[in-house]
Amino acid sequence: MATADFAGWPDGADVAVALTFDVDGEAPWLGEGKEYERRLSMRSMGSFGPERGLLRVLKLLSDFGVPATFYVPGHTADNYPSVLPAILEAGHEVGHHGYLHLGTDELSADAQRAEIEQGLAALAKYDVTPAGYRSPGWELSPETLGMLGDYGFAYDSSLMADDRPYWVRSGEQSLLELPGHWSICDWPYFGWTPYHGGLLADPAGVEQIWIDEYESARDDGRAITYTMHPEAIGRGYLTRMLERVVSEMLDRGKPWFATHSQIAALALTG
Ligand SMILES: [Zn+2]
Repeated sequence: MATADFAGWPDGADVAVALTFDVDGEAPWLGEGKEYERRLSMRSMGSFGPERGLLRVLKLLSDFGVPATFYVPGHTADNYPSVLPAILEAGHEVGHHGYLHLGTDELSADAQRAEIEQGLAALAKYDVTPAGYRSPGWELSPETLGMLGDYGFAYDSSLMADDRPYWVRSGEQSLLELPGHWSICDWPYFGWTPYHGGLLADPAGVEQIWIDEYESARDDGRAITYTMHPEAIGRGYLTRMLERVVSEMLDRGKPWFATHSQIAALALTG
């Protein structure tokens, strides 16, 4: 494993911050099992993301004037037609996040290929050719990893072997890995469901973890990826937490808020 070198961040920034949002909607639940088809309340918790939470997130990003990366399952793009236009018109990046958010490790190679191709087709309806991929549920199989280069992806954001960007092999090609981590993701703290349980953690503690990770990234001068879901971070009290985190980042350092593609474009290959 080789970490990726960067010549530096624009305008003398001391850290590159990628705010990323997985607009999962109903896809993870419908993909998990047929029983979810009649669980309207559970599905509506997913719908809150594209219907309501996303708008809060977009407003926050607009208020701060920062870009972000949105990983959108094809199912969300197909069933919530306002989602991609809203993200794209605001100038943000869209990445691939499967079609029905199916766990790659539980599918045959052919089914993994279909999930990628259906996702690409759904995004293509909005003229999006995604440069990046994030595996649904954050599990990446060897087969899907091996296909990403052939499908034209330049980077992935599914693995966690380092907290600095690093290179992975995808078939014959090198792929930039932009690692996230569950500790700087909203879901383990706030993603409670009646069927999986969860924490519904105190945002104050999470806020401190996220700021400490930011300070660590500043010390290292590295890129850091935060991962969020509009159905979680888009709840009113959590959008307020994110607002405090971004304000604190701006107060404490000189962050460069960037999309994953903007960061990937600065990686030195040789
Ligand atoms: Zn997801």
